[in-house]
Amino acid sequence: MLTDGVGEAAALPGLRGLLRSVRTPEFAGTVFHEVEAKSALNRVPGSSPMPFGWTVNPYRGCSHACVYCFARNTHTYLDLDAGADFDSQIVVKVNVGRVLARELARPSWAREPVAMGTNTDPYQRAEGRYRLMPEIIRALTRSGTPFSILTKGTVLGRDLPDLAAAAREVPVGLGVSLALADRALQGRLEPGTPSPPARLDLVKRIADAGLDCGVMVAPVLPLLTDSAEALDALLERVRAAGASGVSVLALHLRPGTREWFMDWLAREYPALVPAYERLYRGGAYVDPEYRRALAERVRPLLRRHGLDRSAGVQRTGGDGFPHGAPPAERLAAPVVEQLTLL
Ligand code: SF4
Repeated sequence: MLTDGVGEAAALPGLRGLLRSVRTPEFAGTVFHEVEAKSALNRVPGSSPMPFGWTVNPYRGCSHACVYCFARNTHTYLDLDAGADFDSQIVVKVNVGRVLARELARPSWAREPVAMGTNTDPYQRAEGRYRLMPEIIRALTRSGTPFSILTKGTVLGRDLPDLAAAAREVPVGLGVSLALADRALQGRLEPGTPSPPARLDLVKRIADAGLDCGVMVAPVLPLLTDSAEALDALLERVRAAGASGVSVLALHLRPGTREWFMDWLAREYPALVPAYERLYRGGAYVDPEYRRALAERVRPLLRRHGLDRSAGVQRTGGDGFPHGAPPAERLAAPVVEQLTLL
């Protein structure tokens, strides 16, 4: 292990509470910036349409390195860039569980739902090393706080006994994000993520543990992953894995993400650049006509796979999540099938 706390602290004035920066051979090319967080609970702005009031993010940056990740721009607040730095310079809040337990013990804490996985992935590879989530899960459970987790990380499987125990005490919503089944495209698009079969296996393990597991088919990439055939095959596998519900969301391209994604598209699929410029000419959200057509394509597929027992199409508005809309919306009725089309 190599550490260079002093040098990194001088180079990264945006990193408050930095204890040290760590590089290890198992995580080649990644730097972990270990910080002492002052707070763990983040208030979701009152104007947000999301169905939870609080989030906890043990990590900033994400080695899953999804090209389309919505959270990229948040790294610029740390004097790091929204591109390669977001993927490889990971801020680790090493004391997050302790700080969270303290915050949850306040008499004023109203036990509102807490969401994880809304900014960066709490079960990214770093969690295998730092093991921050078990303490977070215990703190939330002991305080009687409902919570949800959305992830692409198979490290979650390690904590299934804790999550099953938590679900006996408080409402727990679990979701796995899986945008596509094509291995070659997944490797280029989400190079740091577990493979689609590994994530489907995680869905199965969650279901086998007696817990509901929603799947976010998100983001759907226009002209790359949005054919009826591709979605049909993916939904068939999602259903077979035992998902309790599915949400389908089209790609959003917010500033910071847009530049990184469009550079990638120009390298990998240059012929698609004009089509994307047209589809996203209005800003971060795909052309409404495309969205309607996608909804029409998906609806019969959901019916065919028995995934359409939802209250209907739901819009959760626009400020977006890297993994799509969170499973927290299922906290009140964890067994209800839910379809979200954005
Ligand atoms: S989309 Fe999620 S898993 Fe992918 S890099 Fe962003 S936070 Fe990580």
